[in-house]
Amino acid sequence: MDSIDELLGELPLPPYMTAEDIGFAVKAVTVHVAEQWPDGPRCRSDRAPHPCRLHRWGRRILDQRGLTDRQIRTLIAEQEASQR
Ligand SMILES: [Zn+2]
Repeated sequence: MDSIDELLGELPLPPYMTAEDIGFAVKAVTVHVAEQWPDGPRCRSDRAPHPCRLHRWGRRILDQRGLTDRQIRTLIAEQEASQR
């Protein structure tokens, strides 16, 4: 964890999750992916040590929805395919 993480804590989850939140969550984990750096994995988007806050936020939403890793990977693949 870096100092900004410690200062701000975790991002709050939305009280009621909508399909839109799921979309944001998928986008967050898709954009905030790990990139290999000499000192370890870092976020491709904000260069914070991976997993960064937004990545963790997205994962927490998807986990809370009870999605399996496989379902999450499918959603991510769909998201990436739609961006091409
Ligand atoms: Zn990030």
